Amino acid sequence: MRIGSIINGTERVGEDRNTIDVINPYTNEKAAEVALASREDLDAAVNNSLEVFQTTMKKMPAHERSDILRRAAEILEEKAEEFASVIVEEAGKPIKHSRSEITRSIQILKFSSELAKHMTGEVLPMDAALRGENRMGIVKRTPIGVVGAITPFNFPLNLSLHKIAPAIAAGNTVVFKPAEKTPISAYMLVKLFQEAGLPNGAINLVMGTGEEVGSALVTHDKVKKITFTGSLPVGKTIRETAGFKKVTLELGSNSPNIVFEDGDIDQAVTSLVLGAFGFSGQVCVSAQRIYVQKGIYQEFLAKFIKATEELVIGDPRDDKTDIGPMITKEAASRAKSWIEEAREQGATIETGGSQDGTVLTPAIITNVEQKMKVVSDEAFAPLVSVMPFDTEEEAVSRTNDSIYGLQAGVFTKDIDRAMRVSDQLEMGGVWINDASTFRQDNHPYGGVKQSGIGREGVKYAIEDMTESKFIGIKLNP
Ligand code: NAP
Repeated sequence: MRIGSIINGTERVGEDRNTIDVINPYTNEKAAEVALASREDLDAAVNNSLEVFQTTMKKMPAHERSDILRRAAEILEEKAEEFASVIVEEAGKPIKHSRSEITRSIQILKFSSELAKHMTGEVLPMDAALRGENRMGIVKRTPIGVVGAITPFNFPLNLSLHKIAPAIAAGNTVVFKPAEKTPISAYMLVKLFQEAGLPNGAINLVMGTGEEVGSALVTHDKVKKITFTGSLPVGKTIRETAGFKKVTLELGSNSPNIVFEDGDIDQAVTSLVLGAFGFSGQVCVSAQRIYVQKGIYQEFLAKFIKATEELVIGDPRDDKTDIGPMITKEAASRAKSWIEEAREQGATIETGGSQDGTVLTPAIITNVEQKMKVVSDEAFAPLVSVMPFDTEEEAVSRTNDSIYGLQAGVFTKDIDRAMRVSDQLEMGGVWINDASTFRQDNHPYGGVKQSGIGREGVKYAIEDMTESKFIGIKLNP
């Protein structure tokens, strides 16, 4: 299979192009060959997107945008298994988790279809200001223009749709640069939108490396907004080079979870095993730090280790598999080296941490210190530290001791404590009685501190992808 960029509806796969191979992380077999975009292709994509914005998308009525998004949802429902298999192949994500990614992606399309019809503005009480009598003020939301969407490998369909679907709902056009490791689902998604009736050029797909094509997209002066999901170092570069563009950055974290003595231990164990090790921890809100109150620490730890050791590790194509490969052998080796470094610094590896190629077994680490990489940096791997604490104040202060602030989980049955702690946590979101890892596609999602700027979750992404325009009218009395 040879795939390439799609610009104005036409694929660019010429034999003269440089290529990269997409490698299945579990079987190590070649899944596809990608013909890379050149700088000229990127310019063509942006120019065409701008033209299609001005001639077509900007003028398209809301009911048409909504219909296209609804049809896209229906087609994705029909092709769910095909998309899930591709995510297994290119990302190594276990099939059951790939299927749930598709289910969530369908919901994003449905939410976007509905919200395309509800881009309302407001009428201002102009007479609230001195000399405002006999004036009328209207605030409208207008599409922004060409949106550059840059996405990571770990939720290749869901996170791409968190950008593309709200952009279309708002009447924008998109130049889409997917992760080079997972371009097949991106390619299929653009084809799916063509089938759903989206005009050519409303999404242009550019296949290429981040350093070449991604950075050129970020600095292109005809692009009005960059929406990026990925790592902190790349996010920082984007922030520094994007110039006057609007920028949304969805970055990483070392997500904390607090289990209080009055919490439901079994519920916490079940949520946190999935939350720490789902997709081998390659999730931005993966539970990486678990603070457990001293009175229940031993009981929690024993149950947590037992449940972790029951996870099925193996072939991601198998329905029973919980843990498959990491994205590359290098990623697994890097995480393994962090575990070894923690061990040398005095930590205890309670279970897991052995590597076989791309597969790293789920590791639970105790006796850690704040300075260790496994605690303070983003691991993005199947490893989690479990740490005891005494008081609520201590739990809050240790949770907040991070450069990141994306989502946290708090397990307690005390509603007053739940709300008190939520208010004090420096996070974009807090789940009570669920792990930091849980996400729905309709709530505001994004980070504080170095976890990012801006919010996704369809309604909130649309806000960030539109401008407000004021129209004032002076009326004759
Ligand atoms: P990454 O290495 O930062 O790559 C993300 C995207 O950026 C890829 O498409 C990449 O292209 C591109 N890119 C790389 N260098 C670039 C540059 N200089 N200019 C423009 N684009 C560039 O991230 P990843 O390894 O794929 O994903 C893991 C990271 O994403 C983790 O840190 C995770 O926490 C974060 N993440 C955050 C969220 C969230 O919602 N907050 C969700 C998921 C993941 P190439 O593929 O060609 O390198």
